[in-house]
Amino acid sequence: MRAVLDHVGIAVADLAAALAFYRDALGLEVEAPEEVVSQRVRAHVVPAGHSAIELLEATAPDSPIAKFVAKRGAGLHHVTLRVDDLRAALAQLKARGVRLIDDEPRPGAAGALVAFIHPSAAHGVLVELTQRDVDRPDLLVARLPFGNVQLTMLHDGPFRLDGGAMFGVVPRVLWERKAPPDDRNRIQLALRPLLVEGDWGHVLIDCGAGDKMSPKEQDIYALDRTHALDAALAETGWSADTIGFVLASHLHFDHFGGATARIANPAGSAPRVVPRFANARYAIRAAEWQDATHPHERNRASYLQDDFVPLQAAGVVDFYEGDEEIRPGVRVVRTGGHTGQHQIVFVESAGRTAVFVADLIPTTAHIQDPWIMGYDLFPMETLAFKKRFIREAIEREYLIVFEHDPHVAAGYIREQDGHRYVEKVR
Ligand SMILES: [Zn+2]
Ligand SMILES: [Zn+2]
Repeated sequence: MRAVLDHVGIAVADLAAALAFYRDALGLEVEAPEEVVSQRVRAHVVPAGHSAIELLEATAPDSPIAKFVAKRGAGLHHVTLRVDDLRAALAQLKARGVRLIDDEPRPGAAGALVAFIHPSAAHGVLVELTQRDVDRPDLLVARLPFGNVQLTMLHDGPFRLDGGAMFGVVPRVLWERKAPPDDRNRIQLALRPLLVEGDWGHVLIDCGAGDKMSPKEQDIYALDRTHALDAALAETGWSADTIGFVLASHLHFDHFGGATARIANPAGSAPRVVPRFANARYAIRAAEWQDATHPHERNRASYLQDDFVPLQAAGVVDFYEGDEEIRPGVRVVRTGGHTGQHQIVFVESAGRTAVFVADLIPTTAHIQDPWIMGYDLFPMETLAFKKRFIREAIEREYLIVFEHDPHVAAGYIREQDGHRYVEKVR
């Protein structure tokens, strides 16, 4: 088996003292902490070349790390090796009579699979094996009661975009640990429309990429249509025909391609493109429509006319002008930046606020202010809006719905000791 050193875990009794050494004295970068609630531990990752040191801090007295420290003192807790196929690795170890703690892989942080080998088999060291399954985003349909509304995080399958383009001026050495690229330099992303239901009705915010792309385009974007929006809707008892209202964050194909469908015409005439949600009205910001229907060389590949022009022909578009309350408690706010009229959607109910941030903060890896996509037409506008918005989101505890994150559908942005991180909710 091929195994690469992933990280070394160190149980820490006094975090401030540990940071004084690893961060201040050694001068190493410490990432934002990640809380593993089930283990009652907070992990502070210190990247070191292709591997990392993980400082483990107990968050409760009955945490396994607290018990470890009480019994043996602070120090080396575990060594983690990364393997390509964890199941095969465990089978190989079992066949050799190696004592395991986990016979089967179990889910770890950030979509990884993990399993532990007993220290008695590894000469006194707890060895963890991990498989970072970047090819498998978490595409579960998540329903979340929120105030007096119900939020359903749907999905239209996984897709991939160029890693460099997703992170703009941020060098690959900084983003590749958070978003490992494949051999074509593409990173794994998801398409996650949001369904909001209230006593006033419902609204579907964005609708994925849809099924109109050619096999060649599907290959470029690694669209996997075996896990698409129709299946996700069916899981919640909905269907394309029961959706009555669709709201667009903007008209890029990965957000609004699913608004229309191509159907074959009888007698061999050319296929037609029709509204995909047969009984729906579509709410579109008038100025975004203007931009999308008058593309230029820089945005032409993102605005595909078949995604929206047939809607107007069918008479199902409701245009609106500015930042409006589209449905009770559901209002759009223009951010600009990504496109001139890009907007996010605030959902406010019973004193709580959730925000569908679309391409303002496409994934949890983009929560640092300057981590801005190369796709953005007006990056300085993105920066100005994002700085103000994220500060507000932290202070007012907005639930952030991430449309493109492969592993986190929704969470709270937190800040501790100047480091930002996302507390995952779904
Ligand atoms: Zn976009
Ligand atoms: Zn997008």
